[in-house]
This record gives sequence, structure tokens and C-alpha cells, in this order.
Amino acid sequence: DAPAAGKACTRFDLEKETELRFEVEAGEAAEQVELELVTGMAEVFGSELNRNKKYTFGPGSKIAVFTWLGCSVNLYGKPEVAYVSKDTPMLLYLNTHAALEQMRKQAERDNERGPRVMVVGPTDVGKSTVCRLLLSYAVRVGRRPTLVELDVGQSGVSVPGTVSALCIERPADVEEGFSVQAPLVYHFGSTTPGTNIKLYNKLTSCLAEVFSQRCEVNRKASVGGCIINTCGWVKGSGYQALVHCASAFQVDVVLVLDHERLYNELKRDLPHFVRVVLLPKSGGVVERSKECRRDARDEKIREYFYGFRGMSYYPFSFEVRFSDVRIYKIGAPSIPDSCLPLGMSQDDTQLKLVPVTPGRDLTYHVLSVSSAEDGEDSAKKGIVESPVCGFIVVTNVDTQAQMMKVLSPAPRPLPRHTLLIMDIRFMDMK
Ligand code: ATP
Repeated sequence: DAPAAGKACTRFDLEKETELRFEVEAGEAAEQVELELVTGMAEVFGSELNRNKKYTFGPGSKIAVFTWLGCSVNLYGKPEVAYVSKDTPMLLYLNTHAALEQMRKQAERDNERGPRVMVVGPTDVGKSTVCRLLLSYAVRVGRRPTLVELDVGQSGVSVPGTVSALCIERPADVEEGFSVQAPLVYHFGSTTPGTNIKLYNKLTSCLAEVFSQRCEVNRKASVGGCIINTCGWVKGSGYQALVHCASAFQVDVVLVLDHERLYNELKRDLPHFVRVVLLPKSGGVVERSKECRRDARDEKIREYFYGFRGMSYYPFSFEVRFSDVRIYKIGAPSIPDSCLPLGMSQDDTQLKLVPVTPGRDLTYHVLSVSSAEDGEDSAKKGIVESPVCGFIVVTNVDTQAQMMKVLSPAPRPLPRHTLLIMDIRFMDMK
């Protein structure tokens, strides 16, 4: 590790069951902060720290270093804030893990399936962090749980505008989170489920089905169960989507973070055998502004193409002829019921594939490359339910030449020719 030369060093001595919270200033010019465990033991969101190793956290990071038995750590650099808190819900979270582990043990004994857990709550209550914690604790005791990511705004697995599932095989990396290898990803197309709730529910069902199939053939996955991260939209259709998810995945446990009304509603509406548990949020969870969320989304797309930290990728840029691809948008704009063709319902329009005529307005849009086979016949069948094999961004459109230029993680040609357009745009500033 490079020495933290010239950086101010602050020592924190933490008593047992306390945590050091710190934030790194946001913005390109902000200085990174390094963390080093000097004595004792400590963890960051469920992943243990190695002693005398320097961990680097970039602009905008919000971190908690928790210790069960006491420790001392050094921080190098100037964090925006850094303070020690004795008031954390970590013991409750650990007890939750212990209860889930009991369920896994029982599943193992009785040849049944392990716990399927849904984590819900409004925005900024630490849902993703609780998921990460529970998953890391589970792998640390030898389990192989699955993370199901339904947060289309802030996905921890793939680019925004997608839902996905990922088998977790090792604890999250302290600096980089879970290693994302071979996730199963579906195209949703926008950052809030409200833009097409029918599609959102459909994709939730697809993920549930694939997960169940995997559980049938893989005992470890079945016993490990899953942890489902959801969106912060908990009213109206957002609430209905949670109820739908609970039923699609046949969840056994729902963890409600910091929202009593939601807790009561779910207790009322879910079958009695589902355990609904209310948990407090951590005082350390930091609220994120709209801009902050938008930047995080942008960063996630940039990472997809360019990699991050030690891992740089070099994306390709090439031209694609309009005639070589078929571009669709999922969901036609809703029209009054009275104007629908006979026998057709609004539901059908929300899942309909609408061909997109390429034009200048395609520029900067993110497109998902569908894994659906290219044949004419299958051109429309099953595309909505097919996972995606990657993403490209349109960087330029030449309507005269009937070509568009795209940014792609792999060289030409595109592996498939069915593309799905997202509402999400990405401007490549590199
Ligand atoms: P969203 O609704 O956007 O999905 P969320 O409810 O999933 O948000 P998280 O992403 O888990 O919330 O947490 C928000 C931020 O707070 C993250 O940057 C996370 O690193 C930070 N955070 C979580 N817990 C703590 C803590 N105990 N101390 C300091 N920071 C924390």
C-alpha cells in the first residue's frame, strides 16, 4: 500500500459496539480519504477490515466503521465529517441475521428452502446497506444467498433502469461492494417503477421464476435464500408492487425500515405466515439530494463502460447501420379505454413493443441489447421477458447515412440486434 504521504492523520479509539461515521466530500476535485485499522477488529457494512491495510474512499462516500469489541483506526485526509456514534441498530441487524441463519439451518435439516427476505422502506433509510450487511454475514457463515435488486433508480448490481439478480459468493469488498460477475439483468428502461408499473411487476415475476428454477437444481442457492432490495416508493402502485413482489417470490420475511404505517399495512395485507418485522434505521444513513442520486446513476453507467479504481475498461466506438438493428420501446402511451381496439386492455399496451424510428433524438440514450434471438419470428415474442446481454450508448446519429455511432463495451459486431431504448441518457464526458 502506498503511504498516505503528507495527509493529516486522525486517530479514533472506538469502544465496543460503536461506529465511526465519515463522509468524503463530493466533487471531482475532492480529496480521497484513507482508513486503516490499527488495533482490534472492525467491519464496514458487514465486511471485516484487515489490520494495517489502507482502504481508500473516493468523493461522496458515506461510510460507517463498526466494531463489536473495540478497536482503533486512523483516518488520513480531510473527511467532510467524522464522528463516533454509540447509538446504532447494528445489534438488531445482527439478531436479524441470526434469525435468518436459524431458518437456513432448519431448511437444511428439513430439506426445505431457506428464507426469502424483502427489505422495504422509504428512500434514504439504508435499505441497500441492510441488504449488503445481511448478505455479507450470510456468506461469512458459508451460505450462498442471492441478491435481488429491484431498485431501478439506484441499482447496486447493474446500470440504472434495470432489475437484476446476483449470486453472492464472497463478502462485499470494503471499497467496491459485491463483485458483479454474471448477474441476471432485465431491461426496465427508466428510473422509477411508476413509468410502467405493469412492466415492473412482470419483470419481478420473471426474476422470481428464474430464482425458483435455480433453487430447484441448486441446493445451496435454495438454502441460502434471497435478500430483495426494493424501491423507496411505498404508496399507491408502489405499495402494490411490494405486495406483488412478496407474492411472486413467496417471501417469508419482510424487513420494514423505519416506517410504521408501511409495517402495519403489510402486516394487514400479507398472508399471516409472512413475518413482517419493523427495524429502526441507522442515524448514520445520509439523505441524498436529487442531484446526488443523478450523479450516482451517471457514475454507475460510467463504471459500466470505463471500469473504476484499479480496473480500467476501454470501451469501443463504432457505427451501426439502422437496417442492421431493431429498436423498440416497451410500452405504448396509454390511450382512453374507449379508444382501445376490441379485446385489448391497457395492460397490453404497457407491455407492447413499440418500434422506434431512429432519429437525432436517440442521441445519448442508453440502449439495452436484448438476449432474444434475432430471427424475424422471435422478433417480438419474449423480448420483454428476455434478459439483456449488455448496454450501449448512442453517441451520434447520422440520418442521411442511416447510421448511428455507439459506445460499446465490446468491439463490433453487436452480439444481438434487438435493442431496447431507455429513458435514461448518458453523456460521455471523457
Ligand atoms: P435508496 O432509497 O436510494 O435506495 P437506501 O434506503 O437504500 O437508499 P442506502 O443506500 O443503504 O439507503 O444508504 C444511503 C447512504 O448512507 C449510503 O451512501 C450509505 O453508504 C450511507 N450509510 C448507510 N448506513 C450508514 C451509517 N451507519 N453511517 C454512515 N453512512 C451510512
